[in-house]
Amino acid sequence: MSQNAAVPKRILAVLAHPDDEAFGMGGTLALYASQGVEVTLACATLGEAGIVEESYLSEGQTVAELRSAELACSANTLGLHKVIKLGYRDSGLLGWPDNTHPKALINQPLEQVADHIADVIRQVKPDVVLTFDPIGGYRHPDHIRVHEATVRAFANVRASDPTHSQPRALYFHTMPVGLVKAMVWTLRLTGKNPRKFGNNGDIDLVDISSQNFPTHVRINYKAVAEKQVEASLCHASQSGITRGTGVQNFLTRLFTRPVDRFMRAYPEPGKSHRVQHDLFEGLS
Ligand SMILES: [Zn+2]
Repeated sequence: MSQNAAVPKRILAVLAHPDDEAFGMGGTLALYASQGVEVTLACATLGEAGIVEESYLSEGQTVAELRSAELACSANTLGLHKVIKLGYRDSGLLGWPDNTHPKALINQPLEQVADHIADVIRQVKPDVVLTFDPIGGYRHPDHIRVHEATVRAFANVRASDPTHSQPRALYFHTMPVGLVKAMVWTLRLTGKNPRKFGNNGDIDLVDISSQNFPTHVRINYKAVAEKQVEASLCHASQSGITRGTGVQNFLTRLFTRPVDRFMRAYPEPGKSHRVQHDLFEGLS
């Protein structure tokens, strides 16, 4: 066995809230974990601003405690190697009182958050770093802040650290625009407002469907699709979805293919780049 073969590949996903790791790129994380890749999650907040029905909370339990437990369930289901909590506070959506909390992620200086994430990159030594796209998937302020800070952190580590510990690629998880357009159509057909989608009514599917980030890597996670579903079920307080029930669940299953899409930010793909099917493909 060569020396390299003994060192596992590593992925670091930098995300904002407990549930981002499951609802977003959970299939990809589970797939690589199942293949022996060390997959670490850095989670910026504990989702304190998420709307939670009281019935989900046990006596004396805070939203952060509940969502932390949901995150542990999800991470275990996906097979994650480690979860690193960055300790910021959920900022909520624009205009929410949570925006003004002094610990809210959006109130922290970008450079400071970037330095924090750079420290995590140096600690984890990932080959590949994953985060949100430039609009944070659906314009959640925390997602956008995590994107900006991760891009800066990645560049800083690449610029300052010795070659052997540098991350080799940075990818942004992107929304499947075709699927989002189909959901807009279906919601309108059923009399629902596609601009107020999701448990918190905070997802504007019309806006998202107008975005068009390039797809450089497409990951088919069919082999572990059930793990992604199970991880999502861990976050019941945020989805309101239980197995096999609900119109939303039905629609999700109807339209969702077990595929995640990623845009490669680094190394910048050449003009002749063809869609790849592995986050590690072609990396030097
Ligand atoms: Zn989130």
